[in-house]
Amino acid sequence: MKTLVLKKNSSQKRSAPGLQKSGRCANLEALDKAFIWHPFTQMRDWQEEEILVIEKAKGVWLWDTRGRRYLDGVSSLWCNVHGHRVPELDRALRVQLGRVAHSTFLGLSNVPAILLAEKLVAMAPAGLKRVFYSDSGSEAVEIALKMAFQYWQHKGKKSKTKFARLTNAYHGDTLGSVSVGGIELFHQIYRPLLFETHAVPAPYVYRWPTGSDPGRVRDESLAAMEKLFQDKHEEIAAFVMEPVMQGAAGMIDQPRGYISRARELTKKYNILLIFDEVATGFGRTGAMFASELEGVSPDLMAAAKGLTGGYLPLAVTLATEEIYEAFLGKHEAFKAFFHGHTYTANPLACAVALASLELFEKKRLLEALKPRIERLRKRLREFLKIPIVGDVRQAGFMAGIELVKDRTTKEPFDPAEKIGIRVIRRARQMGVILRPLGPVVVLMPPLAIGGPELEKLLDVTYEAVAQEAAACQERD
Ligand SMILES: *Cc1c(COP(=O)(O)O)cnc(C)c1O
Repeated sequence: MKTLVLKKNSSQKRSAPGLQKSGRCANLEALDKAFIWHPFTQMRDWQEEEILVIEKAKGVWLWDTRGRRYLDGVSSLWCNVHGHRVPELDRALRVQLGRVAHSTFLGLSNVPAILLAEKLVAMAPAGLKRVFYSDSGSEAVEIALKMAFQYWQHKGKKSKTKFARLTNAYHGDTLGSVSVGGIELFHQIYRPLLFETHAVPAPYVYRWPTGSDPGRVRDESLAAMEKLFQDKHEEIAAFVMEPVMQGAAGMIDQPRGYISRARELTKKYNILLIFDEVATGFGRTGAMFASELEGVSPDLMAAAKGLTGGYLPLAVTLATEEIYEAFLGKHEAFKAFFHGHTYTANPLACAVALASLELFEKKRLLEALKPRIERLRKRLREFLKIPIVGDVRQAGFMAGIELVKDRTTKEPFDPAEKIGIRVIRRARQMGVILRPLGPVVVLMPPLAIGGPELEKLLDVTYEAVAQEAAACQERD
């Protein structure tokens, strides 16, 4: 495959093995820059930067084509759980490959998808009894929205066609999930294509207008939610939110009691509650699902990222039996859920997901995680010593460090300063891969990270932020 496009340079062939290797690396980098359009990337910057091409991995480590090793500090975009090249997961994939890689789920079923669904229902928040498969978190949210909408149509409540959401929300990149999103930077340009939603101010304690008392922020945000529901419940089909921690919004954690009250309010006003656990699910917050932290069950739940342990794209939307039953009827009543993707319930992805969930149990992963979460908490507090750190936020093994230009006034950095990017570049030079959310440095290591590797991740991140703070001081 690679020999097809790689230019064979004859002088290179004759050179020393080391040179040959760097020739190959440079060639791959050039080919990337010639042929690829990367997601969420200003490609003009990309063209000018040195890029890393990942070639292999083991545990929490990634190696690039030049043989350099990096700690995977954001779990390969929040999805890796047990590390890379986990023997049990590799084996599950090989066994499934020996049977069938893919067959359609439209009109047929498959073995790993059935077994996985049974397992998911057993571990999901109470009442979620039906599993609908798809391929990405965006689709899982999109499906939840369509299900909620169609549910009310079948129930004869035809006016319930709108959605409510939190401000700053991120629920994926397809048009439905962008519609319920609220990150201006990503979403504003698409406004003319999107449906309108009602926004509830997210309980962003650090930047709440009337002060940063968590209890007060919670109550004021919930009061705004109730006011909206009072006024508009006739037209609102569902309220969608990430429980406990809004991830891509900038790691905005919710004060305790927020999700249980949101559950009460949605029930009171006859509005479906959709939890997007795409980021928070599968142990990320220390519980299997974040909703467990307050014993809350939504009506619909989207999950994806950690589902396959970070191996293959797979997503699920879980629904209550009540919602599922509203779609039952005579064939010619056309009440079915008309949605499905070619690779729905891909057997390889389901097999590796099943093996990943088994590994949670076998390794007692959530128990093992507890002391690590405490260690992370302790070390995150130390970051507050660095003058550009405004706030640190954490829910289990999800953490964000918000950098500010002025700690007293909470004045943000100018986006042109690319403060987050500058920090992660420094970390990269010290052998750690991070990815920021604007001015928020994200820490999301694989759940199975060992003690020494966690210390290394925190040492390097601290050093990178501290160096950047010193550089800021010099510039001023
Ligand atoms: C990543 C993410 C999504 C989108 O998932 P994709 O698999 O990237 O489509 C949706 N919701 C949340 C909360 C996410 O973190």
